[in-house]
Amino acid sequence: YYNQNTKIFLNGEFVLAKSAGVDLFGQSLHYGYGAFEGLRAYNTHNGTRIFKAEAHFERLRKSCESIGLPYKWNNRTLIEKCYELLEINNLRAAYIRPLVFSGSNMHLTSSEDANIMLAAWEWGPYLGQNLLNVNISKYERPNPKSFHIDAKISGQYINSILASTDAIRNGYDEALMLDQDGYVAQASSENIFIEKDYKIYTPPLGDVFPGITRKTVIGICKELGFEIIEKKLTVQDIYTADSAFLSGTAAEIIGIKQVDHIVYKEEWEHSIGATIQRKYKNLVLEQENYEVII
Ligand code: PMP
Repeated sequence: YYNQNTKIFLNGEFVLAKSAGVDLFGQSLHYGYGAFEGLRAYNTHNGTRIFKAEAHFERLRKSCESIGLPYKWNNRTLIEKCYELLEINNLRAAYIRPLVFSGSNMHLTSSEDANIMLAAWEWGPYLGQNLLNVNISKYERPNPKSFHIDAKISGQYINSILASTDAIRNGYDEALMLDQDGYVAQASSENIFIEKDYKIYTPPLGDVFPGITRKTVIGICKELGFEIIEKKLTVQDIYTADSAFLSGTAAEIIGIKQVDHIVYKEEWEHSIGATIQRKYKNLVLEQENYEVII
């Protein structure tokens, strides 16, 4: 993620990543009390462009507010700092990681003191480019009555780590997790979509993370005239779909080949998901004249 020369933005200054330190007596390290984001910058025909930067920083603000962590920065300034960060590190396309973390404090009450870091590195699609082999995890998503599940809070990612590590140990690429009522919610850090009888379905907000890519996919469906239905999905719905895919900033749009060894009948290349995947690439790369092939 960094080398001898990599710089990060830390509390207003660009500093060398290797010599930047954090307080070892902070709630973020001990309790996972922090908020973060994940953005992607693309090397487009119009230069380097960060996709949906405002939406990501607005979500960061809401995440901080949801746990009472002060958010004392201006989103516009932070976006400018992201572009500077990319230039300083000579990156044209990159994954960008903002992290807000608390200062020295060991109490289990919200912190008055907050720090911000922006880091960037080259990162290919998080789950690779091959169709995925996923399982239904034994781990459930966090209960929305226990956590603000629509916020991107550091500690909540232990759940993601448990589920995807378990999936990988059992020979899968990624885990699908159920919500508190036993419906399929999402993957460890991606939202899920299925195709059935030429319609696209995805679980509604409430028990799933409000992915920015999820919202983009819904917009693409509407623009291209595909029926998109937000509805609770059972494991059976997932098993009997024609095809399925995951969406996320890091993973982008990636097709699923099989769930719990049940292989989707429809060829990915012929699925609506594949069309959405192409359209998404077109959007992030700002290639407006790209023709959608169905
Ligand atoms: N679910 C979770 C738990 C996530 O952390 C993320 C973001 N990494 C997503 C879904 C996808 O969200 P987005 O499309 O905004 O990246």
